[in-house]
Amino acid sequence: MAQCEMCGKAAAAVVIDVEGSNLSVCPSCSGYGTVTKNFSVTSSLQRYSYTKETPEWSVVSDYASQIRRSRERKGMSHDDFSKLLQERETVISKWEAGTLKPSVDTARRLERILGIKLVQEDVIEKSAVTTTTKSDELTLGDFVKIRKR
Ligand SMILES: [Zn+2]
Repeated sequence: MAQCEMCGKAAAAVVIDVEGSNLSVCPSCSGYGTVTKNFSVTSSLQRYSYTKETPEWSVVSDYASQIRRSRERKGMSHDDFSKLLQERETVISKWEAGTLKPSVDTARRLERILGIKLVQEDVIEKSAVTTTTKSDELTLGDFVKIRKR
């Protein structure tokens, strides 16, 4: 079977439409576009167990208020805070204004220093493959439903 054209790590199981071009990708990469075709129901089912092990991380959307609140709770000024974090004050101001999003690595450091939660696991939508499938083939969702009966 061909390899995934996006990550190259897994075998391609579905064809997705990404801005007009078709790519053969594995189920974990299928969220990058609209699924147009399922190669094999069984192989995508098997692949699904692996997608859980490769979660994607992102910085929470209310990072700005979280950072500001925890800094204020600790009674720190921007100046104290910048020395503690070894970041420029302008960077901290931008985080707190919500105009600059810290990277996941930086957010993890902030989590440790401030004792707050800034990084979340992006849940890969399992339904994405089935709900966007346009083909008449048995979709993953149908397959699961049939097996449950
Ligand atoms: Zn992939």
